[in-house]
Amino acid sequence: MRELRAKPAVEALVEDCRKQISALGENGIVPTLAIVRVGEREDDLAYERGILSRFEKAGARAVVYTKPESVGMEELCGLIKQLDGDDSIHGILMFRPLPKHLDEDTVRNLVSEKKDVDCMSDLGLAHVFAQDGRGYPPCTPEAVTELLRFYDIPLKGKKVTVVGRSMVVGRPLAMLLLRENATVTICHTKTEELEKECKRADIICAAAGSAEMIKEDFVREGQIVMDVGINVKDGRLCGDVDFGQVSGIVEAITPVPGGVGSMTTTMLLRHVISSASEGIS
Ligand code: NDP
Repeated sequence: MRELRAKPAVEALVEDCRKQISALGENGIVPTLAIVRVGEREDDLAYERGILSRFEKAGARAVVYTKPESVGMEELCGLIKQLDGDDSIHGILMFRPLPKHLDEDTVRNLVSEKKDVDCMSDLGLAHVFAQDGRGYPPCTPEAVTELLRFYDIPLKGKKVTVVGRSMVVGRPLAMLLLRENATVTICHTKTEELEKECKRADIICAAAGSAEMIKEDFVREGQIVMDVGINVKDGRLCGDVDFGQVSGIVEAITPVPGGVGSMTTTMLLRHVISSASEGIS
């Protein structure tokens, strides 16, 4: 079994990012991300720490803008519009979901195409679905395809089963896999015979948000398993795949932590650098 760890991929990508950041610095530009956080959710704070550390180590900037959970629409929309109009900011990331009293669809669609570095808006998603080469794909699904690319695992003509159909992970991931000419099956809670759908795939992408639900009877020898899930079970972090049961059977698997999740912030960094580079020759 091969463990598909993010670390070597991240190191290679960050090295490349550093060079680009240094070149931008010669033009007086520091790639800058604005993080908008409403409230103090622990998973948001963990992701925020990961982003701040990744950006700082690479020489880019990430600035956090916080609002209390009680924030109103006017104030939050005002902040997004202000950041979107600020030329020193190259990307905007807002943690979601927002508290229930806020209209998330309205807020996320205020981010313009150039600054939508994690594909929050409908326009960004439309680019992913149209595969027209514009906009930035969402970072987590892109982390999956980039990790496969780094480990030279081909997608062309391969059968890939994606477990999960959310607009944040499952569906855009299916589109990125399709772009690479994979044959994609998308599964969800109403899928019949999920085990069979997983077993017949060459590659399984688990993005269900259900701790260790992919068990030994879902897999067979020779498969690649990409675990997108980040769950807490009995006080420890785990994926959607039961690593203990599955890793002894399949050909390769991403660990949790240290797999897909660890690639995500590097995708974000790349997008912010790309946005900051627009217009610079
Ligand atoms: P959602 O809860 O929005 O969606 C989960 C999807 O999985 C739904 O489509 C649901 O089906 C499906 N699903 C849930 N349980 C099962 C099951 N038992 N069998 C089959 N399908 C199931 O989650 P997200 O898409 O936002 O996130 C998915 C996972 O990825 C989570 O663990 C999350 O923490 C993680 N994540 C990781 C990130 C990273 O950086 N690595 C970033 C974002 C998320 P249905 O539509 O029928 O309800």
